Amino acid sequence: MNSLPRLPSRLPQVGTTIFTVMSRLATEHGAINLSQGFPDFSPHALLLERVAHHMAMGANQYPPMAGVLPLREVIAEKLETLYGAHYDVETEITVTAGATQAIFTAIAACVRSGDEVIVFAPVYDSYLPAIALQGGTARVVNLRPPAFRPDWTEVAAAIGPRTRMIILNTPHNPTGTVWTLADMADLGRLVRDTDIVLLGDEVYEHIVFADGPTAGRHESLARYAELRERSFVVSSFGKTFHITGWKVAYCAAPAALMAEFRKAHQFIVFTVHHPSQLALADFMRAEPGFAAELANFYRQKRDFFRQQLAGSRFELLPCDGTYFQLARYDKISAQPDAEFVRWLTIEKGVAAIPVSAFMPDGSDHGLIRFCFAKNDATLAAAGEKLRAV
Ligand code: PMP
Ligand code: GLN
Repeated sequence: MNSLPRLPSRLPQVGTTIFTVMSRLATEHGAINLSQGFPDFSPHALLLERVAHHMAMGANQYPPMAGVLPLREVIAEKLETLYGAHYDVETEITVTAGATQAIFTAIAACVRSGDEVIVFAPVYDSYLPAIALQGGTARVVNLRPPAFRPDWTEVAAAIGPRTRMIILNTPHNPTGTVWTLADMADLGRLVRDTDIVLLGDEVYEHIVFADGPTAGRHESLARYAELRERSFVVSSFGKTFHITGWKVAYCAAPAALMAEFRKAHQFIVFTVHHPSQLALADFMRAEPGFAAELANFYRQKRDFFRQQLAGSRFELLPCDGTYFQLARYDKISAQPDAEFVRWLTIEKGVAAIPVSAFMPDGSDHGLIRFCFAKNDATLAAAGEKLRAV
């Protein structure tokens, strides 16, 4: 007998990520791709030179499991300088294969079958499958348009005896909302004297605009001792240094949490591309101001893109951080957002992401997300097409 094994899906609700779907559609139709979040410009030449250098010098075998020491050292210095947070390089910082792996690993290390994890919707697409694969249950707290601010009464109501973790993402993809000092204080109050662990997805930490409510200040979980002691803090070099394809990021956490993280990390990926790590360490030493300039760099892109859309029928929501801009399209169409972006890509030549893809219940606010991490020429060409819609 030759029958295929029956394999009931562990993730029956999951299809291919919207980022892959929309990028593919953009390519098929020759559309300008403002969907998936990645820059269309090159990283700094020095970074490229340093990777080639370290490959030529022989950094081609396994690096240490936690990441190369020079990179962990610059990460520790950065966390100290920016957030006044001391993390031990030996025991409290691990280099990961992108933020996606760091998030997956933190969840795998903490969440057991039956545990609940609080997430905020719109929710980044990797969180729920990662929770489900551990047998956990997501408790979704909605961030409501147009402000998309957390409602702490709702968060308090979602916390229960099974709550193991809260995952937060600030600056927030896709809404561009940035959490404030008051949010951090509320969060601290809610988790005090509990066993709840926090997972901070802070991949856009350097992209907080000074004209927003936090005046350019990123509220990292690392800033506050009370939060830090129960937190995994995740950032991604992909977002900061225009190298999303390198998949290098890190997680910082107190030693006891990091010990559990590494137990999982070593069997999920073991370690991360060696020459990239050394190159990043060299680059961060040589160009210590690069990350601090990022917010200004992207603020200009945001403003340029918003100007491009000024004469259009799209209504733009505020954007206080990240490299994403939300737009309402109700003056153009009454289609559901997923259909609208397909139409926009195929018929009008600009690809975007439907915000409903970030909603676990599929709810549709009539909003789409554009990525403005693009050359001005790309943004201008997209603007011309979008003004004609
Ligand atoms: N979290 C958020 C909010 C993101 O936007 C992204 C990617 N854009 C990630 C995590 C994943 O980052 P990485 O590419 O480093 O895995
Ligand atoms: N995080 C990126 C975005 O929001 C996409 C990353 C991916 O394709 N998985 O567009």
